[in-house]
Amino acid sequence: MVYNFGSINIDYVYRVPHLVKPGETLASESFQQVLGGKGANQSLALARAGGSVTHWGRLGRADRWALAPLEQAGVNIDAIELIEDASGHALIQVDDAAENAIILYPGANHGFTEAKLEALTESAEPSGWLLMQNECNATESVICLAAARGLSIAFNPAPLDAKVASLPLSLCNLLFLNRGEAAALAECDPKCDADALLDILAERYPDAELVLTLGADGVRYQRGDHRLSLPAHRVDAIDTTAAGDTFIGYFMAARQRGDDNERALRLASTASALCVQTAGAAPSIPVAKDVEAALVR
Ligand code: ADP
Repeated sequence: MVYNFGSINIDYVYRVPHLVKPGETLASESFQQVLGGKGANQSLALARAGGSVTHWGRLGRADRWALAPLEQAGVNIDAIELIEDASGHALIQVDDAAENAIILYPGANHGFTEAKLEALTESAEPSGWLLMQNECNATESVICLAAARGLSIAFNPAPLDAKVASLPLSLCNLLFLNRGEAAALAECDPKCDADALLDILAERYPDAELVLTLGADGVRYQRGDHRLSLPAHRVDAIDTTAAGDTFIGYFMAARQRGDDNERALRLASTASALCVQTAGAAPSIPVAKDVEAALVR
């Protein structure tokens, strides 16, 4: 089982002629309310990939509709706590030039207590994996509790903040990093060569598997001295939202099935190449049969 300690956000998306200016009141041309958050996206991707995932999260009771897409995908939602306060949510303006401006309120995602986290980790099978991102509070506690429970830990430090570097990352077994996250942890320029970045990270985290995603430049994998490199599919990307989340979900599901790393990377890059060809977050995360079909093409 993968236990995904992750954010659940409600995205309120407003289409506007231009981003609202200070003091201005602007009518929106359209409005959409959709499930979002890196945590929810990664659970969706894992389940759509055929993996077994239990989501550990918190959501405002008024937004319980957001559980339906998770449940329909096959995510175990039993441990998601419904609360009276506001859900994590994002107010997203998108203008005609596809530029956006976002206000993010962490809400329920930042309300985990130590007692709750202890109960969650105690409920986990020690043979499982903890997957987590950086959109909830108490990340350090969760890493320590999961390690004490004997869980393997996969961490994706997104969105990156100043606190990430001081987390006990040596307790993590698998780090999923994009170029910006890798550069920050390696204390390098983000334009730094990918292999040089990996050299530094492999020295810094010698016991961890490292997966470095490089957008259209593909992906590198490193464990000890063993390095794999895979190019990205050449596609016309129209929206890269959730590309990394799709990659992580598909990689974790493949590993859970016992696939080797090469196949896990191939499945994950094929899934994320499909993702970037569709607009939106959750709707752009493909299902396994479409990924398998694209793999044999
Ligand atoms: P994040 O979304 O976390 O910033 P990346 O941009 O590295 O992560 O993308 C994750 C993966 O998605 C890449 O390793 C690649 O497989 C795929 N991907 C992203 N952008 C493209 C693209 N333009 N063309 C093809 N694949 C892409």
